Amino acid sequence: MSKHIFVTGGVVSSLGKGLTSASIGMLLEQRGLRVRMQKFDPYINVDPGTMSPYQHGEVYVLDDGSETDLDLGHYERFTHSPLTRDSNYTTGQIYLSVINKERRGEFLGKTVQVIPHITDEIKGCIRKLAGDDVDVVITEIGGTVGDIESQPFLEAIRQFALDVGKGNCLYIHLTLVPYLKAAGELKTKPTQHSVGLLRQIGIQPDVLICRTERSLSRADRDKIALFCNVPIEAVIEEKDKDFSIYEVPLSLVENGLDELIVRRLGLHAGELDLRAWRELLHRLRNPLHEVSIALVGKYAGHRDAYKSIYEALDHAGVAHQTQVRVQAVQSEDVESEGAERLLAGFDGLIVPGGFGERGIEGKVLAIRYAREREIPFLGICLGMQCALVEFARHVLGLAGAHSTEFDKDTPHPVVCLLDEQRSIINKGGTMRLGAQRAILDPHSKAYACYGREMVLERHRHRYEFNNAYREQFAAAGLRAVGTSPDGALVEIIELEGHPWFVAVQFHPEFKSKPTAPHPLFAGLVAAALARQAERGERAREVEVR
Ligand code: GLN
Repeated sequence: MSKHIFVTGGVVSSLGKGLTSASIGMLLEQRGLRVRMQKFDPYINVDPGTMSPYQHGEVYVLDDGSETDLDLGHYERFTHSPLTRDSNYTTGQIYLSVINKERRGEFLGKTVQVIPHITDEIKGCIRKLAGDDVDVVITEIGGTVGDIESQPFLEAIRQFALDVGKGNCLYIHLTLVPYLKAAGELKTKPTQHSVGLLRQIGIQPDVLICRTERSLSRADRDKIALFCNVPIEAVIEEKDKDFSIYEVPLSLVENGLDELIVRRLGLHAGELDLRAWRELLHRLRNPLHEVSIALVGKYAGHRDAYKSIYEALDHAGVAHQTQVRVQAVQSEDVESEGAERLLAGFDGLIVPGGFGERGIEGKVLAIRYAREREIPFLGICLGMQCALVEFARHVLGLAGAHSTEFDKDTPHPVVCLLDEQRSIINKGGTMRLGAQRAILDPHSKAYACYGREMVLERHRHRYEFNNAYREQFAAAGLRAVGTSPDGALVEIIELEGHPWFVAVQFHPEFKSKPTAPHPLFAGLVAAALARQAERGERAREVEVR
């Protein structure tokens, strides 16, 4: 029978519940246990697919095409838990399902209520992840204890222990222990209040993870233990990590969390094996080189909007023991200030995915700069579409070339809608989504990176390269080197005669892990290193002369 861990958060949002949950999953896996991860989001949107990246950060896409919360990215980067649409539920989805059942008459005339109908639905979603092949299901409850929206989820996890037995469940509460400068001390009162709220609804947390910028003293821990009714060994400190998020699991181990969980749930676990993880941190801490990459997008100041890209670049850095410095560049600024001013000196450039017209011309200019100055370039989704527009306009001489997403009447629609996308008016879940196969040309840089002919990558877009232009592009050197297996859709393009100019219609960033960096990001960093070495060489030659 599977055991259950519930992770809740209190005091403030953005405590890093997702990272902590992922770290717990990773530690249990490294003790030989089979883990499944899941998150509930208390908002009413059916999924985050329709939400602005300003509100919600990136939309993380799974193999099965579900559009999910970015915390699921942490789950995938830290663990091997298979993630599917059962791994992320929102209030909107839960209610939608219950209301659909009501319309079908499945409640046989009963009054449909939050308790038990909504809570039953939630519990059903938790149970879906349990099974003979699963030792531990980790369920993270988004939001903060005390939010009106979270109530049905908290009530459901309270009931869950009644259903499966208290000994099979563990409640972990993440809280903030702030340091008050004026008082010169850490304050435990917010934690006490937060746990008080949980206890009011019938949940006594088993473990408290205290997020803090300073170490807790014995007295702080004693106080928290006493007022929150938990044993002292279950007061776990999680201090801010300014170096890397990949340090979080190690700090939890130092504070005895894995052992505590194993003991409390009576799990048959092996020895903790952190060799690979320590090696990863060693490489992160001791880079031999450094490269700078410009990320030219329209949410430049907003890291969460490109979360997985930042992570994937870190992973690629690990692969080459290189510190990758990423500079976000606002694409509109490239329009107003010019590419030379903002992009000179970078060793590589990425134009990420996106929707909407704002900043498009800046992306096109940035790509032109990368193409003409031979700067290694990786275009992702919209980034590939912009590369096509740029090439069409400036190399093929097709004035006014564009994607029909931005100019319906363009004389040269080099990027356009697929027939099956044309009739769709509903938003959300209506794109080409999820894992799709692509076949690579063995004589391509992409193939050299992947080392294989068939790849499976995740998509999230409506528009495609217009095949009517394929030959014209190829004749001028921008070749389709990866296509769907039937050859109908272009998935990867590359520029001949450029050191490294690769653009893809999919999102490679979703499949990169710290212990398995994505081949294309690793390829970009390798090319950036090569460019840097070459420039250094040239500079030295000039000096000698
Ligand atoms: N807006 C583009 C499309 O829908 C690209 C989407 C993306 O970059 N994810 O095709």
